[in-house]
Amino acid sequence: MSEIKENILVTGGAGYIGSHIVRDLGEKGFLPVVYDNLSTGNKKNVLYGDFIEGDISDSTLLKDTIKKYGIKSIIHFAASIVVEESVQNPLKYYENNSVNTFKLIKTCVASGIQNFVFSSTAAVYGTPEKVPVDENAPLNPINPYGKSKLFTEMVLKDTAAALPDFNYIALRYFNVAGSDGKARIGQQYKKPTHLITLALKAALGEYPQLKIFGSDYDTPDGTAVRDYIHTDDLSTAHLLALDYLKKEKKSLVFNCGYGQGSSVREVVDTIKKVTGIDFEVVEAPRRGGDPPQLVADSQLIQKTLGWKPRYNDLEYIIETAWAWEKKLRRED
Ligand code: UDP
Repeated sequence: MSEIKENILVTGGAGYIGSHIVRDLGEKGFLPVVYDNLSTGNKKNVLYGDFIEGDISDSTLLKDTIKKYGIKSIIHFAASIVVEESVQNPLKYYENNSVNTFKLIKTCVASGIQNFVFSSTAAVYGTPEKVPVDENAPLNPINPYGKSKLFTEMVLKDTAAALPDFNYIALRYFNVAGSDGKARIGQQYKKPTHLITLALKAALGEYPQLKIFGSDYDTPDGTAVRDYIHTDDLSTAHLLALDYLKKEKKSLVFNCGYGQGSSVREVVDTIKKVTGIDFEVVEAPRRGGDPPQLVADSQLIQKTLGWKPRYNDLEYIIETAWAWEKKLRRED
């Protein structure tokens, strides 16, 4: 029988990324306490632990949950994450990712939470002066999404500096993709916006074509370059971060990526290869808020936490995402 280690609060644990961490926490004997308002998540994604339907702005329910489960550690995912939507509807992003997250942090501190793992983003760097980008690069977000997340990083930094018993690790995600190797959980948005998902749906014929947003960037093939990281490697980073916080009681910020850039065209070509399906691709204007290149220098997390990429292979990432998309299709 596995020993129950600790109850971990996971906000947004019914969502795409959060559910992979919930799976790994459960498999390692933790009890994940998933707290999610189901705005984009789905209860079916929660493979382990207890589920509470709630919003991070509901301080009373949060306080009661923390008390009931004796929570000392939180992994906070619940957030809005679509760059272009943040340009069109900045108030939604500042409300959810900044104001409500600020309230959450306040509740955590008042309730005696000591360890806070925060899902941040490479969007805090804006358009990096050089790639790969390391954690000391200037923070100049170019869209409300990145700004809303940077605000939370600042709140966490100042709070941890002031309170010796409160520590945090912010993980700056590059482009998260792929799915659980057994296709139990994966990305499922009502209105998908991410490149790999949209291209796979084009391959399945759910969309008539894939649009490439911008082919005039200053990059080798003119399309935007991103560092795609598999959910399972990202999940490991969270578990290592939690362990580090508990043992070392130190606050840190890490990039999560592979240091490998793939252009939109390279991703599309790999999707055609993996699926064996040739779908229509058209060039379209650039999308608002997109930087030309985002590639991580992730040496710091490798050295400090001992994190090692296991799935840094675009084909494997796409294969797992493809298995998930086909499963969704069968269940439709
Ligand atoms: N992209 C694209 N066509 C699409 C969706 C995305 O060309 O249908 C591009 C997008 O402009 C960006 C890259 O693919 O340069 C990755 O976008 P995604 O939305 O997947 O992630 P983001 O980098 O915005 O977090």
